[in-house]
Amino acid sequence: MNLSKSRYTRGIQCKKMLWLEKYKPEEMDNINNESVFETGNMVHEVARYLFGEHINIDFNSNLEEMIKNTYLTIDSYKDVVITEASFKYLNNFCSVDILVKKNNKYELYEVKSSTELKDIYIKDISYQYYVLNSLGMNVTKTSLIHLNSNYVRHGNLELDKLFTFEDVTPDILKLQDEVKTNIEDIDKYMDSEIEEDKKITENCFKPYPCPFFKYCTRNLPINNIFDIASMRTSSKLKYYDQGICDFKDLLNTDIKDDYKMQIEYELYDKEDYIDKEYIKGFLKELTKPLYFLDFETFQMPIPLYDDVSPYEQIPFQYSLHYIEDKLYHKEYLAKPNIDPRRDLAEHLVNDIPLNVCTLAYNMSFEKTVIKKLASLYPDLHDHLMNIHDNIKDLMIPFKYKKYYNKLMKGSYSIKYVLPALFPDDESLNYHNLDLIHNGSEAMNSYANMGNLSEEDMEYTRERLLRYCELDTYAMVKIYEKLLEVIK
Ligand code: SF4
Repeated sequence: MNLSKSRYTRGIQCKKMLWLEKYKPEEMDNINNESVFETGNMVHEVARYLFGEHINIDFNSNLEEMIKNTYLTIDSYKDVVITEASFKYLNNFCSVDILVKKNNKYELYEVKSSTELKDIYIKDISYQYYVLNSLGMNVTKTSLIHLNSNYVRHGNLELDKLFTFEDVTPDILKLQDEVKTNIEDIDKYMDSEIEEDKKITENCFKPYPCPFFKYCTRNLPINNIFDIASMRTSSKLKYYDQGICDFKDLLNTDIKDDYKMQIEYELYDKEDYIDKEYIKGFLKELTKPLYFLDFETFQMPIPLYDDVSPYEQIPFQYSLHYIEDKLYHKEYLAKPNIDPRRDLAEHLVNDIPLNVCTLAYNMSFEKTVIKKLASLYPDLHDHLMNIHDNIKDLMIPFKYKKYYNKLMKGSYSIKYVLPALFPDDESLNYHNLDLIHNGSEAMNSYANMGNLSEEDMEYTRERLLRYCELDTYAMVKIYEKLLEVIK
């Protein structure tokens, strides 16, 4: 089989994953990796400049062309830095992110957009070393380059601080026999047209979730151990390995009461559980006027603005409902292609008065965003921290299962709680929204807004506002539901 870096790493995660890609591709679930790819590309493009002048081997669907151009470049220069240098040994192809040629010796650098070294990266680089070494190239150093999460931008990007180098040469050398065996094993496995049965293991989840999981678990009972919310994968596998998968069988084990609750509610169609006293106590803590706040944020691997670290959450939008004599709504959405933080912070302190109670759903996120804004703007600090200190979490009654029904399926995320409380209310259904239905679509739409025509920008802007408005309107409805059920 023709292998590449990514095929090799998928193959060592599970050979059957590659086999299914080849023989049953229609069974693959659509895991959307678009923004991951975009992130990776952005990091690669910046990391190249760590080495100054370089020659890039342009992508060509004809890999032989890329290989030919690589050798031409290598032969034309005594010393050179090449990005996307491409090689093939037998059926094993690889493009090296950055290859440095010095005195007929080579250094291989793999760029990752993560902020840490992971085991799978070592395997990926081992494969590349294997290909180059098998071609007779003298590779003297192999390194991983990843983002430094402690870097904070001040002024121009400082590439030497933004990135961290990890020399992994000794680990790579130790793995060379293993790479050879792995490639042989994968080749043999792929030659067979007979599908092997394979048990579910940690490999189905790590390092990447397998897109064939649904297919491989198709013969398990409809309600099974893998449907239990918030149970660790290792615990799920412990029961699975003992053959205890069915919800009914799990009830006879020592699993935690929270999990039993999910199982019993789903199996026996139980009535809603409502701890009225607890909910009364929770609501008593909330004072009027009552505000409901939700932020939308974006993250970039390469910090775009001062005082930002890789992947820091940058708020660009909020929706705010508040109840005084009746329900009101305010909203903020930044213009595209600007640093939105100062303007957003000013609007926020104008929109939320001092000493009012603000509700968020899963408040740690909103609190982190506000605290960061407070640290950036000393003149707004006290007001922002006053908002921060008066935030309460609407998630609490659901997190502690003081209000539970079977449709929540063991989860307390608002995406489960909302339809569970209002199964027939179409006005609260995110699927009915146009264009933007979740946080990552909101983030991507905002990031892309600057490239749109006036008309399309206005259209996207309106869709973003309606999406975020639904987030806080949903919170208002949940709050009203809590008031209703304690009567
Ligand atoms: S679900 Fe697991 S066993 Fe099935 S192909 Fe994926 S990794 Fe392999």
